[in-house]
Amino acid sequence: MAYNSADIAAFKNVWVFCEQRQGKMMPTTFELISEGRKLADELGVELCGILLGDDVDGIAAELGGYGADRVYVYNSPLLKDYTTDAYTKVIVDAVEEFKPEIMIYGASHIGRDLAPRCAARLHTGLCADCTHLDVDLNGYVEFLRTGSNVDVDNTNFETKMFDVNTNLKMTRPAFGGHLMATIVCPRFRPAMATVRPGVMKRRPFDEEGVKKIEIVHPDFELSAEDVKTEVVEVVKAAKKLVDLIGAEYIVSVGRGIAKDVDGGIALAEELADVLGGVVGSSRAVVDAGWMTADHQVGQTGKTVHPKVYIALGISGAIQHKAGMQESEYIIAVNKDENAPMFEIADYGIVGDLFKVVPLLIESIKEAKAEA
Ligand SMILES: Cc1cc2nc3c(=O)[nH]c(=O)nc-3n(C[C@H](O)[C@H](O)[C@H](O)COP(=O)(O)OP(=O)(O)OC[C@H]3O[C@@H](n4cnc5c(N)ncnc54)[C@H](O)[C@@H]3O)c2cc1C
Repeated sequence: MAYNSADIAAFKNVWVFCEQRQGKMMPTTFELISEGRKLADELGVELCGILLGDDVDGIAAELGGYGADRVYVYNSPLLKDYTTDAYTKVIVDAVEEFKPEIMIYGASHIGRDLAPRCAARLHTGLCADCTHLDVDLNGYVEFLRTGSNVDVDNTNFETKMFDVNTNLKMTRPAFGGHLMATIVCPRFRPAMATVRPGVMKRRPFDEEGVKKIEIVHPDFELSAEDVKTEVVEVVKAAKKLVDLIGAEYIVSVGRGIAKDVDGGIALAEELADVLGGVVGSSRAVVDAGWMTADHQVGQTGKTVHPKVYIALGISGAIQHKAGMQESEYIIAVNKDENAPMFEIADYGIVGDLFKVVPLLIESIKEAKAEA
């Protein structure tokens, strides 16, 4: 049968684009596989990964540990390094052959380049930078009940236009983060979404899944003529960027450090040091040139969920909260008792951060010495 993205009934299963670089799986892939498992269970279908590279079989089975049922592996020297042409061709051909109903990509540089190209070729929709995904209507309603001010009890979600119970509901910030929009792609398949690194939670690793996963090597066609760009060399950024996404403790600074920028950053670094964590920041701090952009937490920065997030002199704008409100514990230090950050903080300290933080550092050191 010829490919027809409007023939909804012909599409089945949830797919995740499994991004690897230099033969190493990107951590976001495990987050997406974990989320894909949830969606596949809601639909009662299989979860499949699609992995492209050169000799990448060795990293495929691990995907089973996070919930994948099957992984389609495409090996070729032409797929060793990412190029838009080669990856788009192989993925589009695979989608035409196997017809997944949902396809998720990480919103990495590669995912942001690849997903729109594939969506355009396949004539389907793509929702970029999603922060929440649902198929199940009850789950979606619950998400709205707890995370929005929509009057869900008096809202009719049924629609004549599409089956609300089987379509992927893709939620993302809109209008500069001032509201959240939920988008569906009811008329074409696959429904495609990109999700930023760190947004979805990784499931606990299950060794049994590794034993059960099915690894498939479909036939495919790809020749040098299909690839119009040549990767001559891969040069890694010399500077080591801060690893906010993997950190368990994050101490973030905001414009509240303005009266002594260097002193404020030094205090945050010392606090992060005693906790074994890293330093993040609000966008105001990056915009002012006080810290580099890799430290920024929030809607246009990184999405983090550490064990403990300490916000020093950060007001708590919605765009900042969007990147850290899923942290296990939030501690806010702010001299304004009405700062919105206190609304989501588990512990709040009203005071001058330059006075409060040295006391915090001292008591943590004491507690550590006693332990
Ligand atoms: C499209 C868009 C995307 C955005 N994306 C992001 C994003 O990703 N991340 C982000 O952070 N922002 C983002 N923003 C900006 C966001 O709206 C806020 O402007 C920003 O978060 C404010 O940063 P801040 O809290 O550090 O500064 P402010 O809002 O100025 O707050 C400073 C806080 O410090 C407190 N303070 C001052 N002195 C002290 C002191 N000595 N001790 C203790 N507290 C003190 C003040 O009471 C105040 O609450 C975005 C905005 C837009 C429009």
